[in-house]
Amino acid sequence: MHIAIIGSGPSGLYVADSLSRKHADAQIDIFDRLATPYGLVRGGVAPDHQGTKNIVRQYERTLKKANIRFMGNVCIGQDLSYEELKTHYDVVVLTIGAFKDRQLGIQGEELTGVYGSGEIVGWYNGHPDYRDLAPQLGKKIAIVGQGNVALDLARLLAKTPNELADSDMCAHAMTALANTPVSDIYIIGRRGATEASFTAVELDELGKLDNCVPLVDASQLADPASIPADLPAAELQAKQKNLTLLQSFAENNAEDKPVHLHLVFCASPDSVLGESTVEGLRLERTRVEAGRAVATGKFFELDVDTVLTAIGYRSESVEGVPFDTQRGIIDNDAGRVEAGVYTAGWCKRGPQGVIPANRADSLAVAKLILEDLETSPPTGEKTGGQAVDALLAERAVTVISFNDWEKINAAEVAQGQAAGKPREKMVDIQSILNVVNQNNTAEV
Ligand code: NAP
Repeated sequence: MHIAIIGSGPSGLYVADSLSRKHADAQIDIFDRLATPYGLVRGGVAPDHQGTKNIVRQYERTLKKANIRFMGNVCIGQDLSYEELKTHYDVVVLTIGAFKDRQLGIQGEELTGVYGSGEIVGWYNGHPDYRDLAPQLGKKIAIVGQGNVALDLARLLAKTPNELADSDMCAHAMTALANTPVSDIYIIGRRGATEASFTAVELDELGKLDNCVPLVDASQLADPASIPADLPAAELQAKQKNLTLLQSFAENNAEDKPVHLHLVFCASPDSVLGESTVEGLRLERTRVEAGRAVATGKFFELDVDTVLTAIGYRSESVEGVPFDTQRGIIDNDAGRVEAGVYTAGWCKRGPQGVIPANRADSLAVAKLILEDLETSPPTGEKTGGQAVDALLAERAVTVISFNDWEKINAAEVAQGQAAGKPREKMVDIQSILNVVNQNNTAEV
């Protein structure tokens, strides 16, 4: 049996691992358009959250399995078509994630100084698509959205070079941030403190920064006792923890530290102000009714010179793959796309959930695939990698294997160690190919 998985992030790797356990004879090819594996663990997880990145040890074991191949630097829709995948593999699983920023759809969003979290996170994490972004970051920054991505952005913007020293933030971003110190960061939610989607562990980190003090207007906070007690226990506890932390922030003294991080609730962006660059952000006050943000017709302005949006992501459509343009996900029914084609992770259900949630989703999709294989077993006619290797060779595509990745990894770690960092990422394909080719020549 021949299986193709598109995307080597957590979701794809969990599907691969699960299918390989049940079908030790299946040949599984995991494609990635990047030359490096691990998707959001490399390109999304905050560079100062190295503990979270330790999960790659588990993924390495998956990629080292004898019947699994990593096929990096192969872009589906460009180097190979979706139709070709369906022709040559018995099962195709799309786990391409969601890395395109959602838009606010407000006036002024096109101004210089407005960036999506995907762009900024990709820039400081060395994603090749964003390495040349060179964002124009000012002293006063508004971040729209109150999820954990917004907190990641705020924390990393507020940290001192010393606090970032043992992170794997790319050198280009470390230098840019050191040269443009911020004074004020606003994290803006259109709903109230009780509705914010960030979690307490991440919120707590904001209170432990060297140079930055989190501030909240106490009048915007509900009493923890007012949260409906009939919520599921975990949700209730999470909200209470958030409120308790926010109440402690409300007692902070702004004079204590030079960088001020303001958590603003019940404010919905109306327009970004300015001619060509950001000169401010106009917001409308909201109130929360039955869990929804309701406009009040009262407006106010924030004096900011940068606006970052952290309001979620969309997936990218691949030519020929059924796509739900409204939701920005692959069109699917509980993971089934069409005969022999499946999807899992953020491109299946939208950009929600941390790594364990994606693992659970991938295992459910793997189970579905195994059930379908029981009723329609492979015909034995497909040749999988054999046919695809020939096509890629014919098209002069340099495929990066797991062995190549290990050389890239070693080079990044060595370069990082020289600077006291876990790694210095290679951010362009040419340097990656140079390392791979040098090592291959040395081996010959
Ligand atoms: P999120 O948790 O869904 O937060 C998105 C935020 O954007 C919400 O506050 C949402 O407000 C707001 N928003 C959406 N559309 C808006 C609009 N038009 N105007 C104003 N605000 C708008 O998403 P995320 O922060 O991108 O995180 C994605 C997933 O990754 C989450 O599951 C998150 O927990 C996870 N993650 C985890 C970590 C970590 O564990 N350290 C770090 C990063 C990300 P409403 O709630 O009102 O819609």
